[in-house]
Amino acid sequence: MSRTSPDNRATRPCRPHLPLRPLWLCRVCAAPWPCPVARLTLRQEYAHDRIALSIYLCTVLHDAAADLYRLNPHDGPDRAALYARFLGWAAPRGDPDSGVGHSE
Ligand SMILES: [Zn+2]
Repeated sequence: MSRTSPDNRATRPCRPHLPLRPLWLCRVCAAPWPCPVARLTLRQEYAHDRIALSIYLCTVLHDAAADLYRLNPHDGPDRAALYARFLGWAAPRGDPDSGVGHSE
């Protein structure tokens, strides 16, 4: 995985809505990170590489879970909720316009 193009870094948009660790709240709007603006920015930033976005979010989820469970060892966040918050919104679940969705 060494196909990092130099252009990629140069054109990287700034992301002011970054997480404040270890609370994982947005530094700008104080919403649980990733806040709607952060999600939008991430979607744009990784528009052409959804796999990279998933990998990035997996890493973030791992760090966030470690931080949040350290802060609240007895009343930590729900795993499913954490997954939905960090990964669920970006998970490719079929194109809703294609009509090939799965029936749930
Ligand atoms: Zn924010």
